[in-house]
Amino acid sequence: MVATPIGNLADLSPRAREILAGADALLCEDTRTAAKLLARWEISGVPMLAHHEHNERARAPHLAERIAGGESFALISDAGTPGLSDPGFRLVRECRRRGLNVISIPGPNAAVAALSIAGLPTDAFFFAGFLPPKKAARQRFFEAHRSFPHTICLYESSHRIEKCLNDLVESLGPERTIAVAKELTKIHEQVHTGPAGDIRDRFKSLSRKGEFVVLIAPDGFVL
Ligand code: SAM
Repeated sequence: MVATPIGNLADLSPRAREILAGADALLCEDTRTAAKLLARWEISGVPMLAHHEHNERARAPHLAERIAGGESFALISDAGTPGLSDPGFRLVRECRRRGLNVISIPGPNAAVAALSIAGLPTDAFFFAGFLPPKKAARQRFFEAHRSFPHTICLYESSHRIEKCLNDLVESLGPERTIAVAKELTKIHEQVHTGPAGDIRDRFKSLSRKGEFVVLIAPDGFVL
C-alpha cells in the first residue's frame, strides 16, 4: 500500500519510488493519474492495472491468489494513503485472510496533514471520512456527535463544502470552533480556523474550488 502525494508531486518518498519501480504490477485507482506521477518520477515499464471502487470487490480474490502465487503488487490511489476513503481495503482483507504479507509505504494523508497544522486538539480524533450526501443524514451525523469529546475530521468535495458548512452551523451552532484546510500542499493552500459561523460566511466570498478537510473541535474548545 503505497502513499502518493495529495497535490505536490515532490512529496513521493524515495522508498515509495523504489517500490513502484520494482513492482510486478501497479494497481491504480486511475491509470491516467498514475501515469502522471510515474512520468514525474521517471518510472517506466511497470504494467498498470485499473483497481477502483467499481472493480475491487470482484477482483480482490483473484489478485490475492496472484499474490499468493508469488507476484508483488503496489497499490496506489489517486492521492494520499490508499484504503482511506479510497480503494484498497477489500484487497488488503483478502490478503490478510490468506496470511499474505501486506506492507505500508507511508506518506501523505490529507486528514493527518490538516490535523497537524490546524491548532485543534490532536491527542485523539475521529476520522469520519465523507459524510452522507443527503442533508437530513448529514444533520443526523452532526446531532449525534454534538458532544463527541475529540476532534472530528471530515473529507469534503468542492461541490458540497458550502452545504456541509451550512448544516454544521445549523446543527452545532455558529460558535463551534472548526478548521477548514483547503488544497493542502498545493499552490493555493489555505487553512481557516475559528467559529463555524465566521468560517461559513468567509467561504461565501472565497473560491470553493478545491479539496477540503473539515475539522470540528470538541464543544467548548476555543483557539
Ligand atoms: N486517500 C486520501 C488521503 O489519504 O487523504 C483521501 C482520498 S479522498 C477520495 C479525497 C478527499 O481527501 C478530498 O475530497 C478531500 O476531502 C481530501 N483531500 C485530498 N487531497 C487534499 C488536499 N490536497 N487538501 C485538502 N483535502 C484533500
